[in-house]
Amino acid sequence: MEWFIGVIFFIYGIVLGSFYNVVGLRVPNGTFLKEKQSYCYTCQRTLSWKELIPVYSFAAQKGKCRGCGESISFIYPMIELLTGILFVVSYMIFGLTIQTAFSLVVVSMIMIITVSDIAYQKIPNKLLLIFLPILFILKCFIPGTDWLSSLIGAGLAFLLLAVIIFGTKGGMGMGDLKYFMLFGFLFGWPLFFLLFFLSTIYGALINGLLLAGGKVTRKTKVPFGPYIGAAALTVLFFGPSILEWYWSFYR
Ligand SMILES: [Zn+2]
Repeated sequence: MEWFIGVIFFIYGIVLGSFYNVVGLRVPNGTFLKEKQSYCYTCQRTLSWKELIPVYSFAAQKGKCRGCGESISFIYPMIELLTGILFVVSYMIFGLTIQTAFSLVVVSMIMIITVSDIAYQKIPNKLLLIFLPILFILKCFIPGTDWLSSLIGAGLAFLLLAVIIFGTKGGMGMGDLKYFMLFGFLFGWPLFFLLFFLSTIYGALINGLLLAGGKVTRKTKVPFGPYIGAAALTVLFFGPSILEWYWSFYR
């Protein structure tokens, strides 16, 4: 029975992931409510239902538009697949609890913001403001929530990021600051420190690989949001265990 529920989570994940691509691409430029159908961004041709099956369509078309042959970014099927996998992981770790609902919403927000930040180098306030109240309400129902730790986490995130933004000029922006603050609030201060640490490690590693592979130069502006998202997912699923393991060295 459990594997069956897992499969359902996966299918919902890839279907919603497909929708999150659209949200992430259309909310930042204000076209979310204006455009109804999906179309190719190069030749403007409306896509048929066969071209809208998550993951499968991309594979069947070998990553190219059927009309103009233009390559479709691998980001889209990757977001679909990742959402599916992360929904299953949420279920495997939290079962069927209020924590699962919280986890699914966090995953959804991270996927949408990742698309937006990669496409426009922007983490829109609109997106954060949609998710903040939903996550706040869900958090109220999670037993043992430490609100003081949450406030300290958000405050520390604000101070730390303000210092980084004004001290380094570039690299990180106000969107990153708000994104970090939200996670500081959601996870509390000890996990916020872990999240911040992990995001810089992921950033250094991936940017290093991109540089070495010649995909970017030192001047390319690489969005930081995806690294914050990856760190937040690590903290969401494994944060308490990682902290536990870390403190065990001091006991
Ligand atoms: Zn096309």
